[in-house]
Amino acid sequence: MIDVLNEIHQEVSPLLGQGKVAEYIPALANVDPMQFGMAITLNDGQYYGVGSYQTPFSIQSISKVFSYTLALRAYQNGLYKRVWREPSGNPFNSLVQLEYEAGIPRNPFINAGAIVVCDSLVSHFSTNEKAFNEILAFIHQCSGDKSIAVDEVVSTSEMEHGYRNIALASLMKSFGNFDNDVIEVLQTYFKHCSIVMNAQQLSRSMLYLANDGTDPITKQQLINSTQAKRINSLMLTCGHYDASGDFAFRVGLPGKSGVGGGIVAVVPGKMAIAVYSPALNESGNSLVGTKALELFTTKTGLSIF
Ligand code: GLN
Repeated sequence: MIDVLNEIHQEVSPLLGQGKVAEYIPALANVDPMQFGMAITLNDGQYYGVGSYQTPFSIQSISKVFSYTLALRAYQNGLYKRVWREPSGNPFNSLVQLEYEAGIPRNPFINAGAIVVCDSLVSHFSTNEKAFNEILAFIHQCSGDKSIAVDEVVSTSEMEHGYRNIALASLMKSFGNFDNDVIEVLQTYFKHCSIVMNAQQLSRSMLYLANDGTDPITKQQLINSTQAKRINSLMLTCGHYDASGDFAFRVGLPGKSGVGGGIVAVVPGKMAIAVYSPALNESGNSLVGTKALELFTTKTGLSIF
């Protein structure tokens, strides 16, 4: 496995420098675009890594996998009254579709959907602080690492520049699809986007999705197998926003990206993979990270198809 990773590292190196880091907040705009790291954790706990696989970065929208998992656990199918499970075909922060579709977001992985998921968690856990603490505790549980924390500078900066997300939440509130205070819910949303992890921790934390909802190392059941199937399906169809079709076409694995430059992918029954390379393509997904995952499934045949 390490040979494959080394080969990929070598092959993607000439591509570093293409794409652009996220620029909407200074903390992300100042990240070195030339970094690349990739980590794999197998279901038996063995792991492999190359490059910057232990460099911490902002997980951003990858956090939506964890919040969606908790909301699914809390509300089961009742969740889909408030957020659908269809690809949006639109950018992650788009407002237009939400207006046409009466405040019901297409899926839990676009911003509007993840904000509604956070609203549902604030209701379920009674305050925004408790909701955030539950998300973080869940990440500690599935990564087996209690040192994982939030970058407060990123989270404050997200709030200061968060007009579009405030607009999305306010629009949903105007349609009656929002129970709590807009700013309070966004605090939970921005904080969970601002959690910092490295590729190794991220790959470890996704193993429950590679093992029907049960952490293969601790043997704890985090969700049931049907729920794990649902989350993987949505990662495949919606995990990369309007580039989800392209990611499925090229990589053939359930995956979730974040504008911090991370992508996680799940090989059901076998392993989870995380890549980090901060320069993004036009859809806001790691350009080199996507290429690295494409090379991985091409070289190993480990796609779901
Ligand atoms: N914090 C970012 C936002 O809300 C997350 C977006 C992303 O990673 N695609 O805009």
